Amino acid sequence: MGRILLKQIEKRFGKERGYAVRDFNLEIKDGEFLVMVGPSGCGKSTTLRMIAGLEDITSGELYIGDRLVNHLPPKDRDIAMVFQNYALYPNMSVFENIAFGLRLRKTPKHEIEQSVKRTSRTLEIEPFLERKPRQLSGGQRQRVALGRAIVRNPEVFLMDEPLSNLDAKLRVQMRTEIITLHKQLGVTMVYVTHDQVEAMTMGHRIVVMKDGLIQQVDTPQRIYNHPANMFVAGFIGSPPINFLEGKLLEAPDGGLEFHTRQYYLRVPPEASQRLKEKKKVNRTVYLGIRSEHIGVAAKENDTQPQDTMTGIHKFGELMGADRFVYADIGASKLLVARTPSDQDFADDERVTLIPNMQKAIFFDGETEENIL
Ligand code: ATP
Repeated sequence: MGRILLKQIEKRFGKERGYAVRDFNLEIKDGEFLVMVGPSGCGKSTTLRMIAGLEDITSGELYIGDRLVNHLPPKDRDIAMVFQNYALYPNMSVFENIAFGLRLRKTPKHEIEQSVKRTSRTLEIEPFLERKPRQLSGGQRQRVALGRAIVRNPEVFLMDEPLSNLDAKLRVQMRTEIITLHKQLGVTMVYVTHDQVEAMTMGHRIVVMKDGLIQQVDTPQRIYNHPANMFVAGFIGSPPINFLEGKLLEAPDGGLEFHTRQYYLRVPPEASQRLKEKKKVNRTVYLGIRSEHIGVAAKENDTQPQDTMTGIHKFGELMGADRFVYADIGASKLLVARTPSDQDFADDERVTLIPNMQKAIFFDGETEENIL
């Protein structure tokens, strides 16, 4: 079936180069929608291409279903791949493009006609079957590329940045179409993107990669709320999470406080307990807090209420329903808070920033790992 197992997979392009992919262990479940995400050069495409059979595996074992497929050619792997550039044959009609793979397999003619019809109906490209790819819009071409993949009824779909050539609106539409298609077909999908919004909205699980290494494999919600390290925390989420450097000190009541040069913020009891157990008292840590967990209020006098910070409002970005408010909290450190759009501040107005410390995440000052 469509289960994929990667055991200790590594990839090197030549001995003199470093590893493009290292220590990659993952089980992709039958029927799962798995998204691999990470910055350019992190090894996500190479991993996908190894699954497809387009790239040799340097070491490790790759299984599709129960078969070890390390040395199996792509055509025997029961997979279909959709690329960023669609890879359509320009001189063939849409019909011929979709039928091509079936013809190669010597599928009987009437079966080809039925399969192409059914596929084009699913993707709503029936009216264009006689056209050439150049006579189609980007979105229609992308649908033909999808059609060419699904017509073969594979167990596994591999997609490498399939939407990155489309304009923003069409990308959102095709995102939904691919999710719907996945539900209809019930196949395993492995989807590569550098776009964290695509990853968050499409994947059952997300694999975040950096420098050839998996940083975290988890559901979108866990990745967002419980990032494994500062890289994941910073890569996922827009605007990016705020980081503050400081020290954890013990308060007279036995709880912990997070101290920066100018402020201290009380750490909630549960988190204090855990950070104490992990021996982080008197240690440098980073506090991560997302924009939606910082409240902003106009500053009316010079008092500094407990567990707040004072900032100078620098600028705001109106996003429609919300506004991203950027405030300088000293030492040129900008914090971003997400507020209702009707809450606005003047340039250089003094504001009070109120972090919800229940939502704060702490990272080790050296390893940058999540220590909560
Ligand atoms: P992008 O989003 O830019 O496509 P990626 O995360 O998909 O990036 P890969 O294409 O998998 O990254 O590349 C991983 C690493 O392997 C990079 O350092 C890249 O330069 C290297 N690499 C990829 N293909 C080759 C190749 N054919 N020969 C040599 N090095 C390669």
